[in-house]
Amino acid sequence: MRPDADCRLCGLCEGRTNIVLPDGDASSGIVFVGEAPGENEDLEGRPFVGRSGKILDGMMQDAGISRSDVLITNTVKCRPPGNRDPTPDEMHACRAFLESEIVGAKLVIGLGKSACRDLMGFDGKMSEIVNRITTIRVGEVDVRFLPTYHPAATIYNKVSREELRRTMAIVREEMG
Ligand code: SF4
Repeated sequence: MRPDADCRLCGLCEGRTNIVLPDGDASSGIVFVGEAPGENEDLEGRPFVGRSGKILDGMMQDAGISRSDVLITNTVKCRPPGNRDPTPDEMHACRAFLESEIVGAKLVIGLGKSACRDLMGFDGKMSEIVNRITTIRVGEVDVRFLPTYHPAATIYNKVSREELRRTMAIVREEMG
């Protein structure tokens, strides 16, 4: 399920350049979910193409995962102004699109606090849940969910960087 080319279901439509649709293999069963598009993503119309995307790509490569073998998406498809967090209302407006991307997935990886809050309802410290696979309800079905740090959170933090590396190792193992 994709938003209309001129989707106006929430206020994020006002400032966007492009709707940022998922990228990769929708049939892989492995879905990375970030928070929201940033400036580069908004301009190019692809998720995770800026600095965070380079970190994500590098860590995936190191673990032997090809970006084209997984699906990469965000909780909302349009860039929040000034890169602020998307609001609960905006995430709710975009939720049906996200659910259609993750329903039936083998494993969904939540990248960062906002994605984990949206999908798990968790609002505590990431260190309490990182790399612990849990189950989330998507529509009528349960989906396995792996919470982890956003790539941007690993730039100056060795602990979160190592945890994200561990995430990639778990994902690689899940892919077989
Ligand atoms: S964020 Fe989602 S719901 Fe809001 S305008 Fe963009 S595509 Fe539509």
